[in-house]
Amino acid sequence: MKMTKLFMTLIICLCFFTMALAQEKEVIIKIDTLSKDVFMLTGQGGNIGIYVGESNVFMIDDQFERLSDKIKSAISTLTDQPISFLFNTHMHGDHTGGNAKFNSKATTVVAHDNVRKSLEERLANDQKLDKKILPEVSFSDDITFYDGDETILAFHVHNAHTDGDAIVYFLNNNVLHMGDTYFSGRYPYIDIKSGGSVVGYIKAQKKALLLINNETKIIPGHGRPSNKTELAAYIAILEDIKSKVEKEINAGKSLEEVKNNANLLSAYDSTHGNGFINPERIREIFYTSLKQD
Ligand SMILES: [Zn+2]
Repeated sequence: MKMTKLFMTLIICLCFFTMALAQEKEVIIKIDTLSKDVFMLTGQGGNIGIYVGESNVFMIDDQFERLSDKIKSAISTLTDQPISFLFNTHMHGDHTGGNAKFNSKATTVVAHDNVRKSLEERLANDQKLDKKILPEVSFSDDITFYDGDETILAFHVHNAHTDGDAIVYFLNNNVLHMGDTYFSGRYPYIDIKSGGSVVGYIKAQKKALLLINNETKIIPGHGRPSNKTELAAYIAILEDIKSKVEKEINAGKSLEEVKNNANLLSAYDSTHGNGFINPERIREIFYTSLKQD
């Protein structure tokens, strides 16, 4: 009996030790060059976009606060100019966590109206947070930035990953940052509680597809850089999942039944189910969202 207890304690200790190690694991900020002026930074959390233009540096998303200094030093290898605009694609903490660290007199934080609203709520619920997390400029439908010969279009897509998503297109550089309206190579997270929906998610991706061409580089919210062909294939997968889950709903299946039906999407589980959203979760998300429509 005593030995079992000791053994259990040892196992528990080992588990905590491994967890602590995983957390401590050093995050390295990797830079991908996507065009003449646009770069993608990967660390932990949402992919960051950096545009270094004629007169302005434009940043999209900022991961977590604890990584801000590392991210700043990675950016300093690309430019010695200050960041003019920091754009949030949506409100999730792995995209806005560094807002207060980057917000300064030189840097204006920009986001959709609903991102501002939800960060106001976050601020109201946590006295320790800095007011500088809040976007200083917000928009409802779209907003355009101009720098030299570059035009940067940012537009809102309704009820996709959340209720405040925006997609950003660098026209001349031909780079599209989709935020979390695209998880390349893995199942998407659709935050239904925050206003996201399957129908809106697919609609947003189709809108993006209309805008781009075969040369466009896509920065997804998570995953490796992508392109039009891959996005089109991804949309086809989401539409197939949607129709399969709809069939189950129409046949009167319950959430539990669909959640437990491992065969339903097995064609995609091995290729797309190894990320943050596992096969069971994707069945649950699609069922819950489609049931609401
Ligand atoms: Zn997100």
